Amino acid sequence: MAARNIEVEKPCPACGEIMPTETWEDLFKATPDVIVDSCEEHGVWFDTGELDVLVTRAELDAARESEGKVRRAWAQGYREGKNSTES
Ligand SMILES: [Zn+2]
Repeated sequence: MAARNIEVEKPCPACGEIMPTETWEDLFKATPDVIVDSCEEHGVWFDTGELDVLVTRAELDAARESEGKVRRAWAQGYREGKNSTES
């Protein structure tokens, strides 16, 4: 993988400990650019806009996933003759 931008590590706003930065590529595959700061004691801190980006992308992922499920369920029902356009 190409070198990524390393964000300067920041102190936790609550306790002042320097927080390691991490990306959540495993969790949000499309967000290598969102770098989160996490304090062991106080949890994760987001920079302005980062949470919005993650939430938006998570929603898109979830929407795509459920759309896929609906389509598969429909296709399955169609093959089994369960679907009808008459109601
Ligand atoms: Zn802290």
